Amino acid sequence: MRIDLHTHSSVSDGTASPSDLVRAASGAGLEVVAITDHDTTAGWDEAASAAEEAGIALVRGIEISTRYRGAGVHLLGYLPDADDPALQAELGRIVTGREDRVPTMLARLRDLGIPATQEALAEVSPDNRVTGRPHVADLLVRLGVVTDRDEAFARYLADGGPAYVDRYASDLIAMIGLVTAARGVPVLAHPWGRGSASVLDEAALAELAAAGLAGVEVDHLDHDRPARARLRAIAERLDLVVTGSSDHHGTGKTGHDLGCETTAPAELERILERAAALGSPTGLAGKALR
Ligand code: AMP
Ligand code: ZN
Ligand code: FE
Ligand code: FE
Repeated sequence: MRIDLHTHSSVSDGTASPSDLVRAASGAGLEVVAITDHDTTAGWDEAASAAEEAGIALVRGIEISTRYRGAGVHLLGYLPDADDPALQAELGRIVTGREDRVPTMLARLRDLGIPATQEALAEVSPDNRVTGRPHVADLLVRLGVVTDRDEAFARYLADGGPAYVDRYASDLIAMIGLVTAARGVPVLAHPWGRGSASVLDEAALAELAAAGLAGVEVDHLDHDRPARARLRAIAERLDLVVTGSSDHHGTGKTGHDLGCETTAPAELERILERAAALGSPTGLAGKALR
Protein backbone atom coordinates (compact mmCIF):
# COMPACT_ATOMS: atom_id res chain seq x y z
CA MET A 1 0.00 0.00 0.00
CA ARG A 2 1.49 3.36 -1.06
CA ILE A 3 0.74 6.27 1.27
CA ASP A 4 1.73 9.94 0.78
CA LEU A 5 0.88 12.06 3.83
CA HIS A 6 1.79 15.63 2.82
CA THR A 7 0.68 17.44 -0.35
CA HIS A 8 -0.49 20.91 -1.34
CA SER A 9 -3.27 22.07 -3.65
CA SER A 10 -3.95 25.44 -5.27
CA VAL A 11 -5.95 26.33 -2.15
CA SER A 12 -2.50 27.15 -0.78
CA ASP A 13 0.72 27.11 -2.81
CA GLY A 14 0.30 23.92 -4.84
CA THR A 15 -0.74 24.25 -8.48
CA ALA A 16 -3.54 21.65 -8.87
CA SER A 17 -7.05 22.07 -7.50
CA PRO A 18 -7.94 19.74 -4.59
CA SER A 19 -9.89 17.43 -6.92
CA ASP A 20 -7.14 17.36 -9.56
CA LEU A 21 -4.60 16.68 -6.80
CA VAL A 22 -6.60 13.70 -5.53
CA ARG A 23 -7.12 12.33 -9.06
CA ALA A 24 -3.41 12.73 -9.76
CA ALA A 25 -2.60 10.85 -6.54
CA SER A 26 -4.83 8.01 -7.63
CA GLY A 27 -3.28 8.07 -11.10
CA ALA A 28 0.18 7.90 -9.53
CA GLY A 29 -0.79 4.60 -7.91
CA LEU A 30 -1.25 5.88 -4.36
CA GLU A 31 -3.85 4.19 -2.18
CA VAL A 32 -3.80 6.90 0.50
CA VAL A 33 -3.07 10.60 0.10
CA ALA A 34 -3.25 13.46 2.59
CA ILE A 35 -4.16 16.99 1.57
CA THR A 36 -2.19 19.34 3.84
CA ASP A 37 -2.53 22.89 2.59
CA HIS A 38 -0.83 25.64 4.55
CA ASP A 39 -2.96 26.92 7.44
CA THR A 40 -6.36 26.08 5.96
CA THR A 41 -8.97 23.34 5.71
CA ALA A 42 -10.64 25.09 2.74
CA GLY A 43 -9.73 22.32 0.28
CA TRP A 44 -11.05 19.44 2.38
CA ASP A 45 -14.58 19.10 1.04
CA GLU A 46 -13.62 19.21 -2.64
CA ALA A 47 -10.80 16.72 -2.00
CA ALA A 48 -13.14 14.37 -0.11
CA SER A 49 -15.68 14.32 -2.96
CA ALA A 50 -12.92 13.62 -5.47
CA ALA A 51 -11.52 10.83 -3.27
CA GLU A 52 -14.94 9.21 -3.17
CA GLU A 53 -15.11 9.26 -6.97
CA ALA A 54 -11.50 8.25 -7.57
CA GLY A 55 -11.61 5.37 -5.09
CA ILE A 56 -8.64 6.54 -3.02
CA ALA A 57 -8.45 7.03 0.75
CA LEU A 58 -8.00 10.67 1.79
CA VAL A 59 -6.46 11.89 5.03
CA ARG A 60 -7.60 15.44 5.70
CA GLY A 61 -4.83 17.52 7.22
CA ILE A 62 -3.24 20.96 7.52
CA GLU A 63 0.37 22.17 7.50
CA ILE A 64 0.45 24.83 10.17
CA SER A 65 2.95 27.71 10.43
CA THR A 66 4.41 27.76 13.93
CA ARG A 67 7.43 29.14 15.77
CA TYR A 68 9.69 27.41 18.26
CA ARG A 69 12.69 29.06 19.92
CA GLY A 70 12.65 31.75 17.23
CA ALA A 71 12.63 29.37 14.27
CA GLY A 72 9.81 28.71 11.81
CA VAL A 73 8.50 25.16 12.20
CA HIS A 74 5.80 23.46 10.11
CA LEU A 75 3.39 21.26 12.03
CA LEU A 76 1.14 18.77 10.23
CA GLY A 77 -2.24 18.30 11.90
CA TYR A 78 -4.07 15.17 10.74
CA LEU A 79 -7.82 14.60 11.00
CA PRO A 80 -8.78 17.38 13.42
CA ASP A 81 -12.37 18.55 13.72
CA ALA A 82 -12.59 21.26 11.03
CA ASP A 83 -15.33 22.94 13.03
CA ASP A 84 -13.25 23.35 16.17
CA PRO A 85 -13.62 27.07 16.97
CA ALA A 86 -10.29 27.51 18.80
CA LEU A 87 -8.28 25.81 16.04
CA GLN A 88 -10.05 27.74 13.28
CA ALA A 89 -9.61 31.02 15.14
CA GLU A 90 -5.87 30.46 15.40
CA LEU A 91 -5.62 29.39 11.73
CA GLY A 92 -7.49 32.59 10.87
CA ARG A 93 -4.92 34.60 12.76
CA ILE A 94 -2.11 32.99 10.74
CA VAL A 95 -3.92 33.57 7.43
CA THR A 96 -4.54 37.21 8.34
CA GLY A 97 -0.82 37.56 9.07
CA ARG A 98 -0.06 36.07 5.65
CA GLU A 99 -2.37 38.49 3.82
CA ASP A 100 -1.27 41.54 5.84
CA ARG A 101 2.36 41.21 4.78
CA VAL A 102 1.68 40.93 1.04
CA PRO A 103 1.38 44.68 0.31
CA THR A 104 4.71 45.29 2.06
CA MET A 105 6.43 42.54 0.03
CA LEU A 106 5.04 43.96 -3.22
CA ALA A 107 6.10 47.50 -2.22
CA ARG A 108 9.65 46.26 -1.55
CA LEU A 109 9.73 44.71 -5.02
CA ARG A 110 8.43 47.95 -6.57
CA ASP A 111 11.20 49.82 -4.73
CA LEU A 112 13.57 47.52 -6.65
CA GLY A 113 11.95 48.59 -9.92
CA ILE A 114 9.77 45.49 -10.37
CA PRO A 115 6.14 46.23 -11.32
CA ALA A 116 4.66 43.92 -8.67
CA THR A 117 1.05 44.89 -8.00
CA GLN A 118 -1.77 43.28 -6.05
CA GLU A 119 -3.77 42.93 -9.29
CA ALA A 120 -0.96 41.08 -11.06
CA LEU A 121 -0.55 38.80 -8.03
CA ALA A 122 -4.26 37.97 -8.07
CA GLU A 123 -3.92 36.95 -11.73
CA VAL A 124 -1.15 34.39 -11.09
CA SER A 125 -3.03 32.59 -8.32
CA PRO A 126 -6.77 33.13 -8.70
CA ASP A 127 -7.82 30.09 -6.59
CA ASN A 128 -5.67 30.32 -3.51
CA ARG A 129 -7.24 31.00 -0.13
CA VAL A 130 -3.95 31.72 1.62
CA THR A 131 -1.12 33.70 0.06
CA GLY A 132 2.46 32.52 0.41
CA ARG A 133 5.82 33.58 -0.89
CA PRO A 134 5.56 30.96 -3.67
CA HIS A 135 2.71 33.04 -5.17
CA VAL A 136 4.93 36.12 -5.16
CA ALA A 137 7.62 33.93 -6.73
CA ASP A 138 5.17 32.93 -9.48
CA LEU A 139 4.48 36.62 -10.09
CA LEU A 140 8.20 37.27 -10.52
CA VAL A 141 8.32 34.41 -13.04
CA ARG A 142 5.31 35.85 -14.87
CA LEU A 143 7.00 39.26 -14.98
CA GLY A 144 10.12 37.66 -16.47
CA VAL A 145 12.29 38.74 -13.54
CA VAL A 146 13.33 35.16 -12.67
CA THR A 147 12.97 31.79 -14.39
CA ASP A 148 11.46 29.75 -11.53
CA ARG A 149 10.37 29.76 -7.87
CA ASP A 150 13.80 28.70 -6.65
CA GLU A 151 15.49 31.67 -8.29
CA ALA A 152 12.80 33.97 -6.89
CA PHE A 153 13.54 32.71 -3.36
CA ALA A 154 17.30 32.85 -3.84
CA ARG A 155 17.26 36.44 -5.10
CA TYR A 156 14.30 38.05 -3.33
CA LEU A 157 12.12 35.99 -1.02
CA ALA A 158 14.21 33.72 1.22
CA ASP A 159 14.34 34.64 4.90
CA GLY A 160 16.35 37.86 5.14
CA GLY A 161 16.09 38.50 1.38
CA PRO A 162 15.29 41.97 -0.04
CA ALA A 163 11.54 41.31 -0.36
CA TYR A 164 11.19 39.11 2.75
CA VAL A 165 8.67 40.23 5.34
CA ASP A 166 8.11 38.30 8.57
CA ARG A 167 4.61 37.24 9.58
CA TYR A 168 2.65 35.85 12.50
CA ALA A 169 3.04 32.16 13.33
CA SER A 170 1.58 30.24 16.29
CA ASP A 171 3.63 29.04 19.21
CA LEU A 172 4.50 25.40 18.40
CA ILE A 173 3.72 23.94 21.81
CA ALA A 174 0.43 25.84 22.01
CA MET A 175 -0.46 24.58 18.51
CA ILE A 176 0.31 20.97 19.43
CA GLY A 177 -2.24 21.50 22.21
CA LEU A 178 -4.80 23.12 19.89
CA VAL A 179 -4.56 20.34 17.29
CA THR A 180 -4.93 17.69 19.98
CA ALA A 181 -7.85 19.53 21.61
CA ALA A 182 -9.47 19.54 18.14
CA ARG A 183 -8.98 15.74 18.23
CA GLY A 184 -6.32 15.82 15.53
CA VAL A 185 -2.88 14.21 15.43
CA PRO A 186 0.15 16.57 15.42
CA VAL A 187 3.22 15.49 13.42
CA LEU A 188 6.30 17.64 12.76
CA ALA A 189 6.85 18.33 9.04
CA HIS A 190 10.45 18.05 7.74
CA PRO A 191 11.95 18.86 11.18
CA TRP A 192 15.49 19.01 9.84
CA GLY A 193 14.68 20.89 6.68
CA ARG A 194 15.20 24.57 6.00
CA GLY A 195 15.09 26.81 9.05
CA SER A 196 14.11 24.49 11.86
CA ALA A 197 17.06 22.04 11.93
CA SER A 198 19.11 24.10 14.38
CA VAL A 199 16.47 24.19 17.11
CA LEU A 200 14.94 20.71 16.81
CA ASP A 201 17.57 18.57 18.49
CA GLU A 202 16.72 15.44 20.47
CA ALA A 203 16.11 17.36 23.70
CA ALA A 204 13.68 19.65 21.88
CA LEU A 205 11.89 16.69 20.29
CA ALA A 206 11.59 15.12 23.74
CA GLU A 207 10.03 18.32 25.05
CA LEU A 208 7.58 18.34 22.11
CA ALA A 209 6.74 14.67 22.61
CA ALA A 210 5.96 15.42 26.25
CA ALA A 211 3.71 18.25 25.03
CA GLY A 212 1.73 15.78 22.91
CA LEU A 213 3.57 15.58 19.60
CA ALA A 214 2.61 12.29 17.95
CA GLY A 215 5.12 11.91 15.16
CA VAL A 216 7.87 13.22 12.91
CA GLU A 217 8.18 13.29 9.14
CA VAL A 218 11.43 11.46 8.44
CA ASP A 219 11.31 10.45 4.78
CA HIS A 220 11.28 13.89 3.15
CA LEU A 221 13.54 15.19 0.37
CA ASP A 222 14.91 17.87 2.73
CA HIS A 223 16.54 15.08 4.78
CA ASP A 224 19.62 13.23 3.50
CA ARG A 225 20.25 9.58 4.37
CA PRO A 226 22.32 10.15 7.54
CA ALA A 227 19.76 12.67 8.82
CA ARG A 228 16.95 10.18 8.24
CA ALA A 229 18.80 7.47 10.14
CA ARG A 230 19.44 9.75 13.12
CA LEU A 231 15.90 11.11 13.14
CA ARG A 232 14.42 7.61 12.89
CA ALA A 233 16.49 6.52 15.89
CA ILE A 234 15.29 9.51 17.91
CA ALA A 235 11.68 8.79 16.92
CA GLU A 236 12.08 5.24 18.11
CA ARG A 237 13.51 6.34 21.48
CA LEU A 238 10.64 8.82 21.93
CA ASP A 239 7.98 6.45 20.62
CA LEU A 240 7.00 8.88 17.84
CA VAL A 241 5.21 7.86 14.65
CA VAL A 242 7.49 8.07 11.58
CA THR A 243 6.01 9.41 8.35
CA GLY A 244 7.18 10.06 4.80
CA SER A 245 5.79 12.21 2.03
CA SER A 246 6.41 13.99 -1.24
CA ASP A 247 5.44 17.48 0.04
CA HIS A 248 4.09 17.77 -3.51
CA HIS A 249 3.37 21.31 -4.77
CA GLY A 250 2.24 20.43 -8.31
CA THR A 251 4.44 22.06 -10.92
CA GLY A 252 5.55 24.61 -8.32
CA LYS A 253 8.32 22.52 -6.81
CA THR A 254 10.41 20.22 -8.99
CA GLY A 255 11.45 16.75 -7.81
CA HIS A 256 8.55 16.39 -5.37
CA ASP A 257 6.39 14.04 -7.47
CA LEU A 258 3.41 12.42 -5.74
CA GLY A 259 4.52 9.27 -3.91
CA CYS A 260 8.25 9.95 -4.30
CA GLU A 261 8.48 9.35 -0.53
CA THR A 262 5.89 7.38 1.41
CA THR A 263 4.64 6.37 4.87
CA ALA A 264 4.59 2.74 6.06
CA PRO A 265 1.05 1.33 6.54
CA ALA A 266 1.73 0.51 10.22
CA GLU A 267 2.64 4.15 10.87
CA LEU A 268 -0.57 5.40 9.22
CA GLU A 269 -2.43 2.89 11.36
CA ARG A 270 -0.93 4.51 14.47
CA ILE A 271 -2.13 7.93 13.33
CA LEU A 272 -5.63 6.61 12.64
CA GLU A 273 -5.76 4.86 16.00
CA ARG A 274 -4.68 8.00 17.79
CA ALA A 275 -7.34 10.08 16.01
CA ALA A 276 -9.98 7.47 16.83
CA ALA A 277 -8.88 7.39 20.48
CA LEU A 278 -9.30 11.18 20.62
CA GLY A 279 -12.79 10.80 19.14
CA SER A 280 -11.97 12.63 15.91
CA PRO A 281 -15.10 13.19 13.83
CA THR A 282 -13.02 13.48 10.65
CA GLY A 283 -11.69 10.01 9.85
CA LEU A 284 -10.63 8.83 6.41
CA ALA A 285 -12.62 10.05 3.43
CA GLY A 286 -13.12 8.26 0.13
CA LYS A 287 -12.20 4.62 0.07
CA ALA A 288 -11.94 2.58 3.28
CA LEU A 289 -8.68 0.77 3.97
CA ARG A 290 -8.63 -2.98 3.72
P1 AMP B 1 5.48 31.10 3.21
O1 AMP B 1 4.46 30.05 3.49
O2 AMP B 1 4.93 32.29 2.56
O3 AMP B 1 6.35 31.42 4.39
O4 AMP B 1 6.45 30.44 2.13
C1 AMP B 1 7.09 29.26 2.51
C2 AMP B 1 6.93 28.21 1.44
O5 AMP B 1 7.77 28.55 0.36
C3 AMP B 1 7.41 26.86 1.93
O6 AMP B 1 6.34 26.04 2.30
C4 AMP B 1 8.14 26.28 0.75
O7 AMP B 1 7.23 25.55 -0.05
C5 AMP B 1 8.59 27.49 -0.03
N1 AMP B 1 9.99 27.90 0.25
C6 AMP B 1 10.45 28.43 1.40
N2 AMP B 1 11.77 28.76 1.28
C7 AMP B 1 12.13 28.41 0.03
C8 AMP B 1 13.35 28.49 -0.70
N3 AMP B 1 14.48 29.00 -0.16
N4 AMP B 1 13.35 28.04 -1.98
C9 AMP B 1 12.20 27.56 -2.53
N5 AMP B 1 11.03 27.45 -1.89
C10 AMP B 1 10.98 27.88 -0.63
ZN1 ZN C 1 4.15 25.13 0.54
FE1 FE D 1 6.60 22.78 4.97
FE1 FE E 1 4.51 21.41 2.73
